[in-house]
Amino acid sequence: MRVLLPARAPESVARQLARDKAEWVRRKLAEFRARTPPERRWVDGETLPWLGREHPLRVTASEATAGQDDARLREGAWLVRLAGNPDGAERAGRVRAALRRACMHMAREELGRRASGRARRMDVTPSLVGVKSYRSRWGSCHADGRVYFNWRIALAPEFVVDYVVTHELCHLVHRDHSPAFRAMVEQWMPEWRAARAWLREHGRRLEALDEPAGC
Ligand SMILES: [Zn+2]
Repeated sequence: MRVLLPARAPESVARQLARDKAEWVRRKLAEFRARTPPERRWVDGETLPWLGREHPLRVTASEATAGQDDARLREGAWLVRLAGNPDGAERAGRVRAALRRACMHMAREELGRRASGRARRMDVTPSLVGVKSYRSRWGSCHADGRVYFNWRIALAPEFVVDYVVTHELCHLVHRDHSPAFRAMVEQWMPEWRAARAWLREHGRRLEALDEPAGC
């Protein structure tokens, strides 16, 4: 660690500062690692979460060159079948892409089901519930009653998913984040604080299926 001080500051001050700050630096590094999605190679035995539970990957390659890559969640495992037998970077990229397509599709159903169940109980009526591939938000609610969710949220634990669903449905009644809005969220999702904290701390994990950023 480097400590920069005014030229005439005694060395003991530098040592004291380094000691005081070491813990802070360690904590910040740990936080940064928690926010960065783990490096994945998209091979057998790695795991990918769905609704907060980790499921192992089982990748098989069919020799048939025709057909499409396919991925599905069956009996607690992600079954990925590749057409042909690609290797190396192509194989990893195709496993990721097949899982991404599957998750987007599953998220549309999962979030649609949760939103309609909650909307009924909350006595609100979205005109449409859909998913989008937002980069920096978890959902949106439009003036005409359309509600969209970031499909990646379906990878998060259920209480987090339900918080995002509840949050957007409350916007059908209150367009802003006023005290009345927050009271409505509190009524239907008392654990909203924990969910929001989870998103702040672990939100980046939900980007697991995104294309890795170029170097
Ligand atoms: Zn909002």
